[in-house]
Order: sequence, then structure tokens, then C-alpha cells
Amino acid sequence: MPIDPRQQHLLRSLPGVDLLLLAADDEPALQSTPKSVVTRAIRESLEALRQRILAQDASLAEPALSPGALMATVIRRATQIQSYNLKRVINATGVVVHTNLGRSCLAQEAIDHVSAMAARYSNLEFNLETGRRGSRYSAVEELLCELSGAEAAMAVNNNAGAVLLCLDTLARGKEVIISRGELVEIGGSFRIPDVMARSGALLKEVGATNRTHLRDYQQAVTTATGLLLKVHTSNYAIVGFTTAVSLTDMVALGRQLNLPVMEDLGSGNFIDLTQYGLAAEPTVQASVAAGVDVVTFSGDKLLGGPQSGLIVGRREILDRIKANPLTRALRIDKLTLAALEATLRLYRDEAQAVKRIPTLRMLLCRRPEIEGRAQQLAETLRGLNHPRLSVTLLNLTSRAGGGALPLLDLPSCCVGIALDGQSPNRIEAALRNGRPPIIGRIENDLYIIDPRTLQDDELEIVVAAFADMVQRIPG
Ligand SMILES: *Cc1c(COP(=O)(O)O)cnc(C)c1O
Repeated sequence: MPIDPRQQHLLRSLPGVDLLLLAADDEPALQSTPKSVVTRAIRESLEALRQRILAQDASLAEPALSPGALMATVIRRATQIQSYNLKRVINATGVVVHTNLGRSCLAQEAIDHVSAMAARYSNLEFNLETGRRGSRYSAVEELLCELSGAEAAMAVNNNAGAVLLCLDTLARGKEVIISRGELVEIGGSFRIPDVMARSGALLKEVGATNRTHLRDYQQAVTTATGLLLKVHTSNYAIVGFTTAVSLTDMVALGRQLNLPVMEDLGSGNFIDLTQYGLAAEPTVQASVAAGVDVVTFSGDKLLGGPQSGLIVGRREILDRIKANPLTRALRIDKLTLAALEATLRLYRDEAQAVKRIPTLRMLLCRRPEIEGRAQQLAETLRGLNHPRLSVTLLNLTSRAGGGALPLLDLPSCCVGIALDGQSPNRIEAALRNGRPPIIGRIENDLYIIDPRTLQDDELEIVVAAFADMVQRIPG
């Protein structure tokens, strides 16, 4: 496209990089910014302006190209470049275990233990009693055994890794029998069949999607069979005309045929959630008590700890898993281990766990408490007294997320916010680009804040973001 005289004039008035570099030398706000960052900020700011000029951006006026305005743009860009890529966000979605937002927030005890272990040396793999090399797993093995009732335990990088490791150890080159109804795909392209293929185990699906009987497993067993696998259908439920083989029956079959039985629980947990009025989610203890030989689950789903994959089960099997060279590739790091140990310790006292672990606290938060927070938020927003801002309280539902409790709607009280002249998408984008970013959701064409997943000190951040937003919009 030909360049018109106005564009030409604007392009010519852009200073060169060298000139701006000289000006930056005298700019107080850039004194402690590394040279490389200043140079990059200048280049990118000029390039962005050039693009806007070429695109005939009507909102771009000559004052934006004044030396003062240019320097302000460069400073803003430099600040952006210098800020962390991984940053704190505010989860106002109401999805408690939100994988895209980091799943679980750690309990204060876990945060403290991580920071103590990060700053100093530790007995990570050193036995203080014998003065010799120790096991990395000893920090959590006893706790995991105590909580689950299992003989032995270990922790790896994540549950996908735990599943891979168990299959590789127990069924490499052998057949693994699994029900068709349990071929789970979770987000991030984790599919049970694909993981099995990687482990070198051969998948043998039995039954139909909605019904699998014990005889299906019995008929599928051959001399090539190495393992019976049960996968908790964590992110969906098959409802209606269904039959699944009970864990007890599978264990009995495994014993009779001398085959190990493994269960991937997905989002494992130690607390019977039905006591708190939630749907039943299988506990790790129940699987161990049913006699399953090895159970795997995530550390950062309902458990509320750091990303990790936990394996509990029979000692003989855990010994084989620990000796597998893959274990080294999937090993848990010391900071995660510190967070995990501190989190697991809280489970020794269920009342403590429910109070101290944010994931559990949010999940079990009762509606009246959420309603109180929603009212507080709504009143403060109304107090901004902006004629175009309208705020309503809505009875909506939150979700557990993380592939747990898929059918469970958690009753919540949300705040719906509309701003006359702004689409909900505009509101969403503005808050998402704020500092810190606030992530809400849009439902029925309304911007929604669900207070369930807000921590105590975050209400005022949400209010401040709205105050800032409406202040820039004329009444
Ligand atoms: C979430 C999940 C996994 C993977 O766990 P990560 O900790 O995310 O690796 C595996 N199996 C099931 C059934 C799950 O729900």
C-alpha cells in the first residue's frame, strides 16, 4: 500500500535508536535497567509505533511521538520486559483446582518449609543417624504409609510420571487389562492408552464403554498378561445403564491369577468428602484397604500440595519401582518434596488439613460464607458510585476442577458486573491485563466473579481494579 504524506511525516519524525539510547542515559527511571533491556525496549517501542503508523491507526497523534511521550513508552516497555513471566494471578473463576492457573495454592506451612529448604543445605539424601547416603523418599514415605495404610510409598514428578513408571516396571512387554470405560483423557493430552504405549505395555481393552463385568477381565487374561489396571474416571462419569467391576472383585481376581492390580486414582485424597456434604471421591486408604497392590495419585489436585505423583502400595512392588532407571528421570526435586512433606503432615489432623490447606478450604467453603464475601464485594463496588456500573448477586455454581468430582456443582454466590458501554469481553480483557491479572468468567453475557476461589486479601485487589477501570470511563 502506498504511504500517504501524513504517514511519511510521522515516520520521519520517529527518532533513531541511537538518539533514544543517548536520552535514556539521562533518564532517572532507567538508571538501574540493564543496557540490553533498554536497547530492546527502544527497538520494540519504535517498531510498535512504526506498525501503528503504517496501519494508519487514527488514534495515533503527533503528541505520542514527542520526546517525553516516547521515553514514557520506552520506560513502560522496559518495566514489562523486566517483570517476571510467571506471575501471581487472582483466580476469580470459582474453579478450585484450576490446572491453567497452577492447580493448588500451598498451605502456609508448606510455603515456610519450601523457603527454609531452598535457602540452605538439607539432608535430602543423607541419613543423619548413620552418616551415610540416605533415600530421597524417606522425607515422605513414612507419612504416606501412615496416611494410606500402605507398606511402602514414594513420590515422583507428577501422576502422569507415576503411571508411566508403574506400567514400565510392572508390565513392560506384557498385556495390561483395562475396562473400555476407563480409557481416560485428561487435559494437556494425557491419555492412558498413549502413556501405556510409551511404557512398552500392551493395552488390552475389555467390556463396553458403559458396562464391564468381571468375566470380561477373566476371559481376557492369558499368559501374556502382566497387570490388571483400574483408572478412576476422574473427569467424567458414565451414568445410566452401567456396570463396573468393584475394586474388591478385581483384587480377588488378581490374587487368584497371581497378577498385580494397579489403580490410578487421578486426584487422590485422604479425606472422606461425603462428611462435608460433597459427592464421594474415592480415598487412597480405601483403595489400599481393598488390597490394591499399587495406587497412584496427584499431589496437587484435591490433595492441595505441590505438583507431584504419589505411589503407595506393597513393599515388594515399590522396591522394584524404586530400582527402575526411569525413576531417576522422574525424580521429585527438593523444593517439591519440602512442600509435599509439610502438606502431608497437616493430614494427620483432618480438622487442621481442612482449615490450613487452601484447596480443601475453598472446596468445602459453605455458601453463607461465600455469600458474605459476595455481598461485601458488591457493596464496595456499588460504593464506587459510577453511573454505568451495575452489580448483581447471582446464585451460580463453582467447580472442583482438576478432573475431580466431575458431576459436582458447588453452590456459590457470585457477583455479576456490567459496565454500560463495555462488553463483558472488554471487562474480562482489561482485568486479565491488570496488575495482578484477575481471571474471572463470562456467563450469560455477564462478567462474573466467584468469591469461592478468592483468598481473604484479594477482595480489595478486585475492588481496586474495578475502581481503576471505571475511573477511566466517563460517567
Ligand atoms: C490428573 C490425572 C492424571 C495425571 O496427573 P498429573 O499429576 O497431572 O500428572 C492421571 N490420571 C488421572 C486419572 C488423572 O485424573
